[in-house]
Amino acid sequence: MLAEIRAKVEAGKRLDRADGRWLLTDAPLVELGALAQEMRFRLHPERQVSFVIDSNPNYTNVCVTDCQFCAFYRKPGDAEAWTLTVEQVLEKIDSAARMGATTVLRNNMLSIYIAPNVYDAEGTVAREAARFVAWVKASPPLRPDAPVLLPGEVERATRSERTAHGVPVDDKTHADLLAAAASVGIASDTAEAMIA
Ligand code: SF4
Repeated sequence: MLAEIRAKVEAGKRLDRADGRWLLTDAPLVELGALAQEMRFRLHPERQVSFVIDSNPNYTNVCVTDCQFCAFYRKPGDAEAWTLTVEQVLEKIDSAARMGATTVLRNNMLSIYIAPNVYDAEGTVAREAARFVAWVKASPPLRPDAPVLLPGEVERATRSERTAHGVPVDDKTHADLLAAAASVGIASDTAEAMIA
C-alpha cells in the first residue's frame, strides 16, 4: 500500500479516500512524514520554514479526566495541584509577549466539584458509588492475571512505580541524554548519575 501511495505522490496524482484512510490508521509515521515532506517541498520549493512563538498559559493543572498519556494534570487536593489567579495568568501572557510570543493558546482543564452533603446528608451517594465500584470490580477479568481497574488506577499505579523505581528510558533516549549532557560540558559519569 505504501509503495502504491508513494508512486502516486511521486507522479503528482491525487490520493483517494482509501489511501487517506490507510495513511490515517496504518501508515508508519516516519514514512508518512517523508511523503508529506516531499509534497511540501513540491509546493514550496524555496524550502523556507516559518513559525510563530506561542504561549500556553494554563491557569490550573487540576483535572479529573485521567487521559493516560497526560503527565501534566493533578487531581483536586493533590499536593502538586495549583491554580493561578487572573492576575497571574495575565502576568504569564505578558512575560511570554516580552519574550516574543505573538499568540496565546488557551488550554482548559475539566474539574467537577460536587458537595454531596448539600443534597444527600444520609450518605446514599457514597454508599451507591461504593456498591457500583464493588459490582464493577466483581466482573471476571479478561485476563486472570490482570484485575479489573477503575479510571485512574493505571495512572496511580504507574506513578507509584515510577516514584519508587524511576522512569524507564529506552536506549536511544539514554544515548541522546548523554550526548546532550556532553554538548554542554557535563561529564558522562555525572550525566549517568543524573539520569539514574
Ligand atoms: S483533559 Fe488535558 S489536562 Fe486533563 S488529563 Fe486529559 S490531557 Fe491531561
